[in-house]
Amino acid sequence: MRLFLDKLLAILFVGALLCSCNSSLKLKKFPEAELSADTYEVKQDVKLSLSVIETGYSTTPEVFMFKGGRWFKKRKIAHISVLVQHPLGDFLFDTGLGSKVSDDVKNHFSAIQRTGSKHIKFKTVKETLDSNDYHQDSLAFILLSHLHWDHAGGVEDFITPLLYTTKVEYDHAFSEQSEESYFIKEQFDSINVQWKFLAFDSVKYKVFDTSLDLFNDGTVILVPLYGHTNGSIGMFVNLPSGTRYFFIGDAAWALEAITGLREKHPIPRKQVDTNRSKVQNQLVLLHYLQKKDPNLILVPSHDHQVVKGLAHFPLVEK
Ligand SMILES: [Zn+2]
Repeated sequence: MRLFLDKLLAILFVGALLCSCNSSLKLKKFPEAELSADTYEVKQDVKLSLSVIETGYSTTPEVFMFKGGRWFKKRKIAHISVLVQHPLGDFLFDTGLGSKVSDDVKNHFSAIQRTGSKHIKFKTVKETLDSNDYHQDSLAFILLSHLHWDHAGGVEDFITPLLYTTKVEYDHAFSEQSEESYFIKEQFDSINVQWKFLAFDSVKYKVFDTSLDLFNDGTVILVPLYGHTNGSIGMFVNLPSGTRYFFIGDAAWALEAITGLREKHPIPRKQVDTNRSKVQNQLVLLHYLQKKDPNLILVPSHDHQVVKGLAHFPLVEK
């Protein structure tokens, strides 16, 4: 066993060195010279707020977060949930690490996968809500950026969760193909889980060809971010203050990946991303979006440097 681990570490080290070159993606030309106008009018009188709940973290050499990252610089990988409080129903965007995450990882992951999944757990999102006297009747549903273990982990800590996802993501998570990926079906296969499948409208929003205005008031806009998984979702939140966020799930793990057009490191990328070329295309889109709309705050789920700057529950940002 010891020999196996030594060999594994040696392979990872050599692989990391070989693959940490500085190459960035080439920026493609876009057919449209400008962004689509903000298609949905944002209603100004909607009392909307947003908070982050950190459920734990992992650490990794920066080189594994994006190509060209530093080998000796440690980076914190955040595992978060986002609480959006909206007059028509509050919801969580992702659930981070749940109460059973350690057993889930131990029972389902290979040695290599477990190496990349070591984590420090804080309170679960449910525990944080409970300890702050948050009334869970107000929680209308849980929306998942995708169904990977570190986003869906807290689902079954709720008694009868209503899960919003896409049908293609649901099919991916329950497919045989998911056995080789980071889906853990036990996290969301209870008969108590109710599912609602979202469909995008043929309405352009920013750089995306399709979108969904979740509350029909322009405050929360969902877009497809396929590639990392087959049916990942990104979420724009337009707050009353004028601050605008775009939560991009795992389309990239760090902001530098978007500014510098750098893919994930090949070793983790081959484990976690389903379709490399789709993720590359998303990265170029996100890069273009950030350049054209610099006031929009992009939030990769795992980038702790970005996450730490957001209001943490029970604080809210309005
Ligand atoms: Zn993921």
